[in-house]
Amino acid sequence: MTPPSRSLLVILAAALLAGCHEVPVTGRRAMNLVDEKEVTKMSIAMFDDLKRRQRPSRDKDRIAQLQRVGERISKVVFWDMPDADWEFVVFDNPQINAFAMAGGKVGVYSGLFKVAKTDDQLAAVIAHEIAHVTAKHVHEKLSQQLAVDTVGTVGMIGMGVGGAPAITTVMLGNAYGLGTGIGALAFDRKKELEADYVGLMYMARAGYNPQAAVEVMEALDAETAGRPAPAAFLSTHPSHPERVLQLIDAMPKALKERTQSAAVRAPTIVK
Ligand SMILES: [Zn+2]
Repeated sequence: MTPPSRSLLVILAAALLAGCHEVPVTGRRAMNLVDEKEVTKMSIAMFDDLKRRQRPSRDKDRIAQLQRVGERISKVVFWDMPDADWEFVVFDNPQINAFAMAGGKVGVYSGLFKVAKTDDQLAAVIAHEIAHVTAKHVHEKLSQQLAVDTVGTVGMIGMGVGGAPAITTVMLGNAYGLGTGIGALAFDRKKELEADYVGLMYMARAGYNPQAAVEVMEALDAETAGRPAPAAFLSTHPSHPERVLQLIDAMPKALKERTQSAAVRAPTIVK
C-alpha cells in the first residue's frame, strides 16, 4: 500500500482545520478551506472600492424599493448570515446586473429594473444573489482552486490567519467574477441551480410571491431575444429550461414556506 502523498495530507489537514460548510435549505456539504472572517473583510473592502469607482443612482423610488425588499429578505436569512452589516446600493449603470457579497453587501445596476419591476420580481433576484452568499459559493470556489493548486506543490500554499490558506484580493475578485465585469461567469451551472432553489425559498419565507422568479426568467428572455450579445446578467445566468423547470418543480414547496412563514410573521393579538 502506498502512503498518501504529502500534498493530499496538506489538503486534508487544511480541510479539518477550516471544516466543512453546510449549505442552508439544501443541506449540501461543501468544502471550505478559507478563513471566513478574512473573506468577509476583503469583500467589504472590495464593495467599498466599487462604490468609489461606480456612479450611484439618484433614482429615489428605485433606491427605496431596493432598501425595502433587501431589508425584508435580510430578516429571513438572519441565522444564515448573523454577522452581516447589510448595505443595498443601486448603481447608475444600464446593464442588467446584480450581485451580493459576504458581509451583506448587495449591489444592483439600474438596468436590472427593466426585467425586475415589481417588489416580488426584485425579491427573486436579490434572494438568488444572497443565496450565493449564504451557500458560500465563493468560499467553495476558492477552496476547490486551492486544493487543485496544492497538488504537487507541497509547502507552496501560504498559511493565513488561523491556519487557513491565504487568499489574495485577485483570487477573491476572480471568484466573484470581478475580472470580466461583476458577476461574469462567477459560478457554474450547479451553483446557479442551487442559488435559484435556495433563493426561491428565501423570497417565499419573506412573504413574496415565488412565481415572480419565473416571471424574471421570462422577462430576461424577452429582453435579450434577438440580440447578438446577451446582457451581462444573462450571460452569467443563462435562462435555460432546466432552471425554469426546477423553479416550477419547487413551487408547491415555496408556496407552503410562504404560508408557514406568514403564520409566524402574523402579529399575536393579545386580548
Ligand atoms: Zn447566480
